[in-house]
Amino acid sequence: MATRSASRNVPTGPSPFAVEAAPLPAEKFADPRVTAKGEERASVALTKLETLWLNTGTLCNLACATCYIESSPTNDALVYLSADHAARFLDEAQAMGTREIGFTGGEPFMNPDMLAMLEDTLGRGFEALVLTNAMKPMRRHEAALLSLRERFGSKLTLRVSLDHHSGPVHEAERGPRSWEPALDGLRWLSANGFSIAVAGRLLPGESEADARPAYADLFAREGIAVDAADPARLSLFPEMDAAKDVAEITSACWDILGKDPRDIMCATSRMVVHRKGEPAPRVVACTLIPYDPGFDMGGTLAEASRPVALNHPHCARFCVLGGASCSA
Ligand code: SF4
Ligand code: SF4
Repeated sequence: MATRSASRNVPTGPSPFAVEAAPLPAEKFADPRVTAKGEERASVALTKLETLWLNTGTLCNLACATCYIESSPTNDALVYLSADHAARFLDEAQAMGTREIGFTGGEPFMNPDMLAMLEDTLGRGFEALVLTNAMKPMRRHEAALLSLRERFGSKLTLRVSLDHHSGPVHEAERGPRSWEPALDGLRWLSANGFSIAVAGRLLPGESEADARPAYADLFAREGIAVDAADPARLSLFPEMDAAKDVAEITSACWDILGKDPRDIMCATSRMVVHRKGEPAPRVVACTLIPYDPGFDMGGTLAEASRPVALNHPHCARFCVLGGASCSA
């Protein structure tokens, strides 16, 4: 994979969102069938492909300190997905009754086929959700976006990453001069009546009860029409760090935690990625693990419909535990 080189916006210090935990022992997450203690590892079956994510490529105008996919202006480990390749997966998703197509990067609006893929998606009757930083790459497409909004209304949602409700924290993660342009992009989307959402993060020790009102104040001040109390409109994500220790998830954990595997993201979604050097895109279990060969599910959605073994620290920290503990 290409290294993440400096961009003009590169953050200068450590991420404010760093996970505080010991290093991950090597024996954990080693075998998809059993945990280091020899217990049966949890798995998640696909109940229905509700959301198909298309990874548009890892290139990004930013190089955030803890970007889970290691995006940057030079990392093209995942190359630009082409509209032709995307169409094959849209065909298959249509036949499977998929409701929504998600676009994530990198920054999706850097992909030269992005607008063609959006047109194809919305024209087929899918809902579309685009994750964007709302900066210059998106702003280049204002006219095309207004046309899509005109024709498809709230079938198109743009979810803007605003890592924190305070500018200094956002810029510590995302780099200098990343706050005002993102706010400006959000204001533009809001003023033009787009269906919008915001993705934020919680600092270590920060609770949702503290963060949601702070986002609400920010949105009110800035004239951004997002209901900060609605988890569907303001998502606040826990931290991830694959190198830090976390408990493995056994099949007994569901009952212990009172969690249902059908609520886990990989029960209802998959992601298409096109890795550099490979002739065609592949399907991976979810948006969080694009590179691990253990989570490459196949070349078609049909092949990728088998259960996923939760054999990665992100499965535990991000999806299942989310701050809880499971001591089976
Ligand atoms: S804007 Fe998103 S994709 Fe780009 S570097 Fe930041 S977190 Fe990664
Ligand atoms: S991180 Fe693991 S549990 Fe979460 S969606 Fe991906 S594969 Fe499933």
